[in-house]
Amino acid sequence: MTEPERPADRDAAIAAVLQRWFGFDSLRPMQREAIDAALSGRDALVVMPTGGGKSLCYQLPALVLDRLVVVVSPLIALMQDQVDGLRLLGVPAAAVHGNMTAKDRAALKAMSDDGSLRLLFVAPERLFFDGFLRWVQQQNPAGIAIDEAHCISQWGHDFRPEYRRLAELRQHFPGVPFQAFTATATPRVREDIALQLQLREPVLLVGTFDRPELTYRVLPRQDLEGQVAAAIRRHPDAASIVYCIARKETESLASALQQRGIEARAYHAGLAAGERTRLSSDFRAERLHVIVATVAFGMGIDRSDVRLVVHAGMPKSLEAYQQETGRAGRDGLPAECLLLYSAADGAKWRSLMERSAAEGDGDPDALQAQLQLLQQMQRFAGRARCRHRSISEYFGQRYDEPNCGACDVCLDELEEVDGGHVLAQKILSAVVRTGQRFGGAYVIDVLRGSRNEKVLARGHDKIPTFGLCKDVPAGKLGNFIDQLIDQELLVRSDGEYPTLQLGPQAMEVLRGTQQAVLRMPKQALASRGKRRRETAGSGRASREAVELSATEQELFETLRTLRRGIARELALPPYLVFSDATLEDMARQRPLTMAALGRVHGVGPKKLATFGERFLGAIRGEVAAPPVVPPVASPAASPPPATARVVVPEPSSGTRRQAALAEAAALFRAGTGIDLACSQLGRAVGTVVEYLVEWIEAERPASIAPWVEPDQQARILAALRQSEDGRLKPVFEALGGQVSYEAIRITAAFLRNEASAMDG
Ligand code: ADP
Ligand code: ZN
Repeated sequence: MTEPERPADRDAAIAAVLQRWFGFDSLRPMQREAIDAALSGRDALVVMPTGGGKSLCYQLPALVLDRLVVVVSPLIALMQDQVDGLRLLGVPAAAVHGNMTAKDRAALKAMSDDGSLRLLFVAPERLFFDGFLRWVQQQNPAGIAIDEAHCISQWGHDFRPEYRRLAELRQHFPGVPFQAFTATATPRVREDIALQLQLREPVLLVGTFDRPELTYRVLPRQDLEGQVAAAIRRHPDAASIVYCIARKETESLASALQQRGIEARAYHAGLAAGERTRLSSDFRAERLHVIVATVAFGMGIDRSDVRLVVHAGMPKSLEAYQQETGRAGRDGLPAECLLLYSAADGAKWRSLMERSAAEGDGDPDALQAQLQLLQQMQRFAGRARCRHRSISEYFGQRYDEPNCGACDVCLDELEEVDGGHVLAQKILSAVVRTGQRFGGAYVIDVLRGSRNEKVLARGHDKIPTFGLCKDVPAGKLGNFIDQLIDQELLVRSDGEYPTLQLGPQAMEVLRGTQQAVLRMPKQALASRGKRRRETAGSGRASREAVELSATEQELFETLRTLRRGIARELALPPYLVFSDATLEDMARQRPLTMAALGRVHGVGPKKLATFGERFLGAIRGEVAAPPVVPPVASPAASPPPATARVVVPEPSSGTRRQAALAEAAALFRAGTGIDLACSQLGRAVGTVVEYLVEWIEAERPASIAPWVEPDQQARILAALRQSEDGRLKPVFEALGGQVSYEAIRITAAFLRNEASAMDG
């Protein structure tokens, strides 16, 4: 494989775009490689976990190249969020899907006509709609990104038939680089993706799957409602998602939580569409914090401040677990992932999978693949092994930290049960005495001395182990049985009615020649302080490990309220305005000027211009924050229409604009370059160029040399003179995309002066 060619000025171009548009200081290592591949025109297969930052991998090349990138994405809600987010950054973007309004279409046409469109999101099934492909070809895209690419493979955990036709894409775009993105671990799926999309010698990039900011806990499920309620209370006022396997569990758990005083709502695919939309928009708008849901929830919800993800039951694969827990802490701040596990979950999944394979066209290989994924998930849950290490290794990556400091195992949250060895002997003995022919539930009945019909009919109330564990709750016994299975002291048979048998070492334990150990979580986990950073082991916490002080915390809450108000005005989810990480940084740095605010992580020039004044006001304590929206679901609130458009408010009022223009004029008169002017004015490139154009028209300078290089100018002038209608896109294209739109705009203003001088 050849090294992609790396023009020397590429890094500078990337750094400029990163800082100018996104307000980020650096790329993550994987992002750099993925972007390099795209810029070098190479295909790439990018394997990256949720939250790894893949959107930048296709957004940035579009901005560096000043050309269109097409993104195939499976979910409308996700596309719409990205489009809204990009527009807040000032990037011309659009989504094509079944719910487009006439206005959406007109906006898209305008952007394609003037050549400003940079990112176009499209659902896979729309791509092959009448004439659409041809239209895309005419737009001459610089790249095509395929999100959730594993959906094309039936070996994956989320096969979607509408992805199949993407196999035809290559023949329509023979010269365009493809980037495929997935979070799937298995080599088989990766190969299948490359094969089906006909990737050509793709650069294979595998991101870091470890998420140091997440604390993983796997606890035996003993008192589901109490355990979930306690976890939610560890994160007061923060967003929590609780995943259940079945719909009816979501409803019963949500109402049990409500009875405990927690505002929780159930969400599943069986609810009316209107109800689902209302719930997701309440959650996004921070009116609702706790959702109890099936996995139907979350695919389109990118709220980045989720602090807790609970699995009330075990997911069916580590991919699914990684994806669902990945929805926590996307803002990079600490979050908790709690899995409440019982070995019964495995049996439940197995029978579901077998049934659906039998009902469908039943590919036995595909079922086998699913069962294998399930088994690996079970192994993860059942073992007391560092969770960060286990996940990393599952995704094929080394993990070198001896103690992750962020999982139940490394935090030493389990303790040995007193008398565990004797308890284990009692359980093993009950299995032997009942003939190794029964499942866990029956063995528990016998141990707890239940006189139910089955036990009496078999005479098992007469055996010595009957009632030996009367005082141990059934849930705990179930978990101890799981632990014995994990230690291979017991073996659970396959099939619809699994039974327990002794494992190879069990006799040693019964004879007392080998000790068995059982573990239990230590007393209830103490409530963890909000926004506490779990300090991570060396070498991986690049983000500072600093808690907010009380006053910082107070400012953070004020900023959060302001953000919520702005989001409501714009009918956008709050995290699109600024992330929690950005607000924390603001609270810590307390910037008092636009320039200082612009240095806060995640504050790009466009957002600075749009929101800067209001946040500065709040930091200075000048502006009363808008009234707090109560953090509960309000039935009165109507969801924003699905096609809500961003209306970015005018950056500043008329007088402030005049002041900014005057300040800018002084800089231009002194020949200040655009970049410097941007940072001195605290304004985005687009705004500064707009000021410059106005200034050129008003002041008619003799030269524009400080802003457009002479030889570029000559070429642009020549092309402009050729163009008949004054449109910029033909000029841009005539110059082979080697000159930026900004340069063209400035030169065009200069030319207009010349023309009007000749007229007059
Ligand atoms: P994914 O699509 O892979 O799930 P996103 O693209 O949404 O992840 O990125 C996750 C988060 O990381 C976002 O909040 C994004 O703004 C942030 N992020 C991405 N790249 C960078 C970077 N280079 N520097 C700082 N933050 C970043
Ligand atoms: Zn660990």
